[in-house]
Amino acid sequence: MDLMTFIGKSSEANIGKAIREFSFRPPRVEIVEERENLVKAYVSTSEGGNFAVMLSEDTASCGCRDNFQKGEICKHILVLVFHLIKERNP
Ligand SMILES: [Zn+2]
Repeated sequence: MDLMTFIGKSSEANIGKAIREFSFRPPRVEIVEERENLVKAYVSTSEGGNFAVMLSEDTASCGCRDNFQKGEICKHILVLVFHLIKERNP
């Protein structure tokens, strides 16, 4: 899967929120499953929520309001994407 696709589909505001999570304190990302075209993880951010996030091929989902209700690529999805990019490019 091309992780950059998710960044490209997101808003600048949500990208900013996700970047701020990393500068505040590293968000907790617990990978549940990782395959070539599927990643499932729990993402915890500074406001204390713990969300199940799934990336598969070119779709991404999260249980938060921004994604589940508004259909946005939310900051939790982006936190997972940034985490994976960092992990894959040490
Ligand atoms: Zn979310």
